Amino acid sequence: MANPRVAGPTRHPLNRRQPHFEIAIMNAKNDRSSWLKGPGTACSVPPGPCPRPYRLVLLGAPGVGKGTQAELLSERLGACQLSTGDVFRAAKILDPCDRTPALNQALDFMKRGELVPDSTVLQMVRERVNCLRCHGGFLLDGFPRTVAQAEALEGMLTEEKLRLDAVLSYDLPIEQIVARLSGRRTCSKCKAVYHLETRPPRQAGVCDQCGADLFQREDDRPEAIRVRMDAYEKSTAPLADFYRARRLLVSVPANGTPEEIFNRTVKALNGG
Ligand code: AMP
Repeated sequence: MANPRVAGPTRHPLNRRQPHFEIAIMNAKNDRSSWLKGPGTACSVPPGPCPRPYRLVLLGAPGVGKGTQAELLSERLGACQLSTGDVFRAAKILDPCDRTPALNQALDFMKRGELVPDSTVLQMVRERVNCLRCHGGFLLDGFPRTVAQAEALEGMLTEEKLRLDAVLSYDLPIEQIVARLSGRRTCSKCKAVYHLETRPPRQAGVCDQCGADLFQREDDRPEAIRVRMDAYEKSTAPLADFYRARRLLVSVPANGTPEEIFNRTVKALNGG
C-alpha cells in the first residue's frame, strides 16, 4: 500500500525525493558568468560536488525581499541565483553595438518599467539552458513572469528530463509592500540602499558611506508602486494558480527580517 505520508494528496513537493531540506553546502560564490554573459562564457567558480541539487522558482511582488531570499538560499544550497532582471542589467552596461536589436528593445521595455516580451525573455533563457542543467541546481528569480513563460519553462525542463522541486511564493499585503518601497532611499553616487524606518542613514538625506545625497527612485513613489503592483497582479499572480495546480506552490509569508523569512522558507520547504 502506498505510504500516505509521501504519496497522499497533501504530499509536500519536496517529499517526492527527500523528506528533509538539508542545507549548508556552499561557501564559494559563483560569479554566474554563464548566466549573466551568455553561453560562450564559463563560470569562474562552478558549483562544487552537490549531493542534492535543488531546482526552485521564486515568486513574489516587487519589494517582498525575494532577491535577498534568493541570495541566502544560494549561499546555503549552492544553486545559482538565475535572475532574468540581472541579465538585462548586465546587458545595459555593454556597448550598444554589442547588443542584439532584441536586447536593445528589451532594455527599452525595462526602462519604462514594463515587462519585456515573452519571446525575447524565452530566447535569452533558451540560450542559457546549460544553467538549468547545472549539477548545482538553480534558483530562478524573476522568471517565469507570465503563464506563457511558465509553460515554456516546463517544456524546457521536460526536454532536459528535469523537474522543479518547488515554487516559493513570497506573500505580503500590498499596504506593507507600499510602506517598504516608499520608505526606500538610494544613494545617488554609490547606490547604497537605506530605509527611512528600518535602516535610516546617520544624517537624514545623506549617504553614510560616501556622503552623497539620497534620493527616492521614481518607481518607489507610492503612485508608481501601485502601477507596478497592478502589473504584477495581472501577469504574474496567475502563476501561483499554475503552480498550485501542479502541487508545486509553497507559500511563505514575507513579513519580518530576512533571517526570519529565510527560516520560514526552510520550514515551509520541509512541509511546515
Ligand atoms: P527584476 O529585477 O526581476 O525586477 O526585473 C527588472 C526588469 O527586467 C523588469 O521590470 C522587466 O522589465 C524585465 N524583466 C526581468 N525578467 C523578466 C521576465 N521574466 N519577463 C519579462 N520582463 C522581465
